[in-house]
Amino acid sequence: MRPFRSRALCVGMVVLMLAVTSAVAQSHPYPTTDVRDIYTRLLSQIEKIPIFDHHAHPGFPDDPDVDAMAAPPGSSPLRERDTNPELVAAAKALFQYPYDDLSTEHAKWLVNKKAELKKQQGIAYFSNLLDKLNIEQGVANRAMMADYLDPKRFVWVFFADSFMWPFDNKHETGRNVDQGVYIPLQEKMLRRWMSQENVKQLPGTLDDYLKFITQVLEDNQKNKGAIAMKFEVAYFRSTKFSDPSREQAEEIYKRYASGGVPPEQEYRSFQDYIFRYLVREGGRLHLPVHIHSAVGIGDYFNISESNVMNLENILRDPRYSDTIFVLIHGGYPLEREAIWLASVKNIYMDSSLMEVVMYPAAFKDSLKQWLETFPDKITFGTDSFPYNDALGAEESYWLGVQTARMGLAGALAEMIATGEITESKALEMAHAYLHDTAVSLYPGKVH
Ligand SMILES: [Zn+2]
Repeated sequence: MRPFRSRALCVGMVVLMLAVTSAVAQSHPYPTTDVRDIYTRLLSQIEKIPIFDHHAHPGFPDDPDVDAMAAPPGSSPLRERDTNPELVAAAKALFQYPYDDLSTEHAKWLVNKKAELKKQQGIAYFSNLLDKLNIEQGVANRAMMADYLDPKRFVWVFFADSFMWPFDNKHETGRNVDQGVYIPLQEKMLRRWMSQENVKQLPGTLDDYLKFITQVLEDNQKNKGAIAMKFEVAYFRSTKFSDPSREQAEEIYKRYASGGVPPEQEYRSFQDYIFRYLVREGGRLHLPVHIHSAVGIGDYFNISESNVMNLENILRDPRYSDTIFVLIHGGYPLEREAIWLASVKNIYMDSSLMEVVMYPAAFKDSLKQWLETFPDKITFGTDSFPYNDALGAEESYWLGVQTARMGLAGALAEMIATGEITESKALEMAHAYLHDTAVSLYPGKVH
């Protein structure tokens, strides 16, 4: 009798609770209050939240270490062009730029101003920039760390792709002009890892090659302050990864480590094995894995071959459930599908790039869908990068932060006005997105 009675009691309580709360807590399709008022109020609160920037490439335009690849000439989306009038606002906000356009003559003022400040401020130059934008700390996703970035403010995320290109890359490099730029840079990166670990030539066996890879990961993590590894593999090949056996990988390695050009299929199988090895090591070492998951620049970036959903077999593989994955750029422009991957406990999203390509009106809608789905799994990043003189790392930090704050305030204001969440819940979500969720992925390493 007892279980029955207690169940009846429970049902009764639920009915009572529903009756009490439904009057105040049912959401509806149209705002019942002025969304703009809530937006303005929230925006001023959101501006006070110190930010953790989960993805950026801080650096000066003449610094080759800012990325492990280089941008080939290609067409930029509208907002990233040097004709974007918002860049004038950025220059005014950051450098008290005195003009209202970026004509060649006026832009010179900006170039000189940055050079002057860089000389005056040294290591504080980029930290001062973070201060202006209320970014507490940020990721520096770079080939190597720069001595002009203060390690208290910038944490390193290194690139792990180059381990997948150890053989003769003649075919790889010749595929198109973009690969002709990218692959030699991967070769250079691999040579840098080898000299870092005092490895004079490619090890003779796969076993020793894997040991070398692990040595680099551990060295970067323990001695160089790295908090995560990053893949931009979508730029270099398909992100469909098969599951070859160790014996298969061993055989391919044995055949090509000392010379010879591997046929494409064999090279891909070997790379698939190495990628999975790196992902597994990321779990063992508590070194989260960041993956470029959006469209990319250049005429030959293959959107369907690098579609974020291609990664699903890896992301949902129980063998990698200890690895934290961060989907950099949120799968854009498939961010609405990609958010459902964040239902997996070890998968997180990053909105960088989205807020630079999308204007606030469009970004608000994407972010709102994320906030309504897995608000505890989404993180903010700028993808700041020295694109050109007008859109430097400085201006792209500004553009990313401004757009994200406006989009966030707008999305949350709509959710409040349609009865989805309370204002205090909205601020909790804002803190999580701009800071808390990303920070929780690197315990003791970031704040
Ligand atoms: Zn990036």
